[in-house]
Amino acid sequence: MIREIAAREITTAVRDLCIDANYNLGDDVLQAFDRALHSDTSETAREVLKELKENAQIARDEKVPLCQDTGLAVVFVELGQDVHITGGDFTKAINEGVRQGYNNGYLRKSACDPITRKNTGDNTPAIIHLEIVPGDKVKIIVAPKGGGSENMSRVTMLTPAVGMEGIKDFVVQRVQESGANPCPPTIIGVGVGGTFERSALLAKKALLRTLGKRNPRPELARIEEEILARVNKLGIGPMGYGGDTTSLDVFLEMEPCHIASLPVAVNVQCHSARHKEAVL
Ligand code: SF4
Repeated sequence: MIREIAAREITTAVRDLCIDANYNLGDDVLQAFDRALHSDTSETAREVLKELKENAQIARDEKVPLCQDTGLAVVFVELGQDVHITGGDFTKAINEGVRQGYNNGYLRKSACDPITRKNTGDNTPAIIHLEIVPGDKVKIIVAPKGGGSENMSRVTMLTPAVGMEGIKDFVVQRVQESGANPCPPTIIGVGVGGTFERSALLAKKALLRTLGKRNPRPELARIEEEILARVNKLGIGPMGYGGDTTSLDVFLEMEPCHIASLPVAVNVQCHSARHKEAVL
């Protein structure tokens, strides 16, 4: 049975998600701030965490963006194979949603030509990641991604012989070199395996996980915890003012890779860890 979904429904959903994500920081992030407020031994760090909480609360209450950098609109779509989009072009429908969301929500438009730096004017094009899945539903996740933390992200092709120790060292070194630039406390998405581009996508998708949720593979869950403990010993702290809370979480995703390769991607996410989803 094929289910029809109108393109305008996609547009409306994307529009609302752009605004919701930029105004309302997730409860899991707020709870992670609270945990850090109790555990961080630095008074300055605790003060900064309080300010970050207050900032998020003001954004919620007053319906304003929680950060001036409202990001590029990264949109993940899981499209059921039994869905037929009617009344318009699917990609155009998503971009129209971004256009409306960023205009109606008074969100800064951050998309520009890479060379002339001329702003596209409406925050399009969206960065769309599409996956065809079984079923007759469409799941849409909008994850606005700020420039400061994205700039600190890296993909590398490690020598396979370095193994897990080499991967851990690469991630910790990336966080250390990033310092205060990605507006810590950060969330670290790590993608291991696949190809060059697949590892980056794994790292980006890892950032959609709820804070505190571990990888279901126990050996990877342990590594996430180990890397988190190591980065939090770096002393960078909230907004770089020192402390025990450099990162709120580390999410590792792993897939098979070529016998000659070891692709590793680190996608750094700032404390404005925004993503909202809808299912049509
Ligand atoms: S890195 Fe994040 S918190 Fe910092 S300015 Fe950019 S979006 Fe805002």
